[in-house]
Amino acid sequence: MKRSNTFEVIPQSEEDEELLRRLLDASAALWNEINYERREHYKDPDEDVWDISEYRGRYGGTLGASTVQQIERKNREAWKSFFSLKKKGEANGKPGFWGNSDDGRELRTYIRNTSYSVEWGEYSRLEILVGKDLKDEYGLGHRERLRLEVRGNPNWKEYEKQGRLELFYDEQAQSFRAFQPVTVDDSRLAQPLASEEAALDIGANNLVACTTTTGQQYLYEGRELFDRFRETTREIARLQSLLEDGRYSSHRIRRLYDRRTKRRDHAQDALTRDLIERLYDEGVSTVYVGALTDVLDTHWSVETNAKTHNFWAFRGFVNRLACTAEEYGMSVEVRSEAWTSQECPNCGSTEDTTRHRDTLTCPCGFEGHADLTASETFLRRQTTVTRSMARPVCLKWDDHEWSESPRSPRPNEEHTNPQVASVGR
Ligand SMILES: [Zn+2]
Repeated sequence: MKRSNTFEVIPQSEEDEELLRRLLDASAALWNEINYERREHYKDPDEDVWDISEYRGRYGGTLGASTVQQIERKNREAWKSFFSLKKKGEANGKPGFWGNSDDGRELRTYIRNTSYSVEWGEYSRLEILVGKDLKDEYGLGHRERLRLEVRGNPNWKEYEKQGRLELFYDEQAQSFRAFQPVTVDDSRLAQPLASEEAALDIGANNLVACTTTTGQQYLYEGRELFDRFRETTREIARLQSLLEDGRYSSHRIRRLYDRRTKRRDHAQDALTRDLIERLYDEGVSTVYVGALTDVLDTHWSVETNAKTHNFWAFRGFVNRLACTAEEYGMSVEVRSEAWTSQECPNCGSTEDTTRHRDTLTCPCGFEGHADLTASETFLRRQTTVTRSMARPVCLKWDDHEWSESPRSPRPNEEHTNPQVASVGR
């Protein structure tokens, strides 16, 4: 099973920090050179994008031969993915540069799995390979690696194999960070406590509404997150309109895109973990997710759909969910069936119901939270188990974690008065 750790990296002296910055800056310079060469070759029908110069001679002394190779490989992967997206008509521009020498390069590097080691303990540390010239200059021994302190609480301190380490300077957090892919032994996984089920309704204003067969309901509010996403999108559009003719992007625009994505991913990661842990405690073993792709042709407006899609990156979210669920031995099943968001759970009507903001009402007398009702209806289609619902738990995002908000919606009223229902129809 493939997993990843992220953690903070702290140089222990000013000298070490300078060394690290030079290493990352040289990596970015190398990336830019390789990328420039590939872009030039791409333009020229007589040239081969894969056939590039030898860079070890000029960069090996600073980065070490294996890191030169990793950067070249990473760049090759970026071009491969560009070509395969282009084939599908989804390419979003050629691979970009890591900043430039005038505005500053993006400090980043990739280190081969055998060229670094991480140790967690009383003095947690990361040791990375650096080139011979840097070692000489900073007085490191011939076989010595640069030793850095690490901080954080990664999920996987024990693993079978480690992958290529990504090390970068996070401008927003003003700190160095590392991303470490690892392969974990499957026997470390948890087993579900029972065989309960849960269904999720996914949207933009309420990111996730969930109902379980144990009668629990969870609502993850997304309005503020979504508003900020929209604000950033507007700012990107404004900056784009100011660009000179012939330019499509700038350092600032790329940075805004980047920040927007990171913010969403952070909230999604935290959401999937919070939700899966709650579901695990409830004894859930299967999670059903309604396929968002179906929404387009039914009730929702095209605009609502587009914004939900962009914001959520639905496929990515389901992958995240499935990855986290796997750690707990749960399975995630995407069900593509008729949209349930407008269906009255009382009389089954889909035509007569009205949705106003978060409330779904039906002439039969039903009134309830629209998204929670949708997840409940969706769940009832997947399973025969039904239990009465507890008061829903409402969760809010504060940029760091999801926490329970005291302002929770009421559970759906008991489905009363069948006479009214038949009149309503
Ligand atoms: Zn009804």
